Amino acid sequence: MVRVILPLLAALLFLVGGCSAERNEELYRQQAYVFGTIVDISIWGSDRELAERAVDAVARDFQRMHYEWHAWEPGPLTELNAAIASGGRGEVVPSLRPLIAQSRVLYERSEGLFNPAIGGLLRLWGFQSSERPNGPPPREEAIAGWVALAPGMDDVILEEGGLTSRNRAVQLDFGAFAKGYAVDLAIERLRALGVENAIVNGGGDLRAIGRPGKRPWRVGIRHPQGQGVLAALEVQGDESVFTSGNYERYNEFEGVRYTHILDPRTGMPVKGITSVTVIHDNGAEADAAATALVVAGVEAWHRIARKMGMKYVMLVDEAGAVHMDPAMAARVIFQEPRPVDVRISEPL
Ligand code: AMP
Ligand code: MG
Repeated sequence: MVRVILPLLAALLFLVGGCSAERNEELYRQQAYVFGTIVDISIWGSDRELAERAVDAVARDFQRMHYEWHAWEPGPLTELNAAIASGGRGEVVPSLRPLIAQSRVLYERSEGLFNPAIGGLLRLWGFQSSERPNGPPPREEAIAGWVALAPGMDDVILEEGGLTSRNRAVQLDFGAFAKGYAVDLAIERLRALGVENAIVNGGGDLRAIGRPGKRPWRVGIRHPQGQGVLAALEVQGDESVFTSGNYERYNEFEGVRYTHILDPRTGMPVKGITSVTVIHDNGAEADAAATALVVAGVEAWHRIARKMGMKYVMLVDEAGAVHMDPAMAARVIFQEPRPVDVRISEPL
């Protein structure tokens, strides 16, 4: 048995079992640095020329999306946000339109917990920066001021070629969603070029199609506290696995950690949840849901997951307890050391 271990930034993706040496040679892997993360593309069973062409095409798509969707590097989205802030009509480039339309739906389904209109609050907290923020949290009045204005995706009115907002405090930031949407587009691109078996993995968030030979793709979910893999999963056919966690980005000030996932209801960083992993068919919804469920927390994750149509959810709380629905429980293969406190919910 040949085992290939692929080290990644935020997760391990590993292919296990059943691969002969010749089969392994059919696995083509390339990495590109986009969206501030390493995107790892694995293609199985396509000839090398096609695989190279496909990866090139995906990398080019990603570069364009990075430019068109970036919330603070100058580009179409920063221009759109400036127009919203001034109360005017902003131009919406074609690639942004479906992102806005779909995130509006997911905003509603998540009861506003997934809220890409949150850019102004992210800026207050210093998360709209390529550097890790440092320094004290924003003043309470500034946070309360943002909460009182309550910008939401339901303030946004998409029109032919452009957009207006009923609320000038709306500042779009697709940080919780763009990677999922981009991974979906990448899979679409690969398929259109004739690739049948592939994984597009952006720092542990991935979508897979087909399988590498007779066995399914097998992927690892990174342990949220520390190193290694919490659990392994077999990915069946066409599925996405997305994880959101408070360990990814944060500001630490005077011993307090402020995570990059913010609760739009309070304006404060979420507490109590270490990570949420979901499996879903498409990456965009999986990405939005993983973030929303971190905000929902132990009390509300089940209800919100249902509303968002999720069937497989695993949540790790700050005390290390693992909460999951039975369908997810049937799929995760915990690695040593296994979590001691595992709580299975009602079915989703
Ligand atoms: P993810 O890693 O997919 O959970 O996305 C986290 C990123 O989404 C953060 O770095 C912020 O840019 C943004 N974000 C934080 N809180 C929210 C929220 N409640 N709704 C939507 N986006 C958020
Ligand atoms: Mg997300």
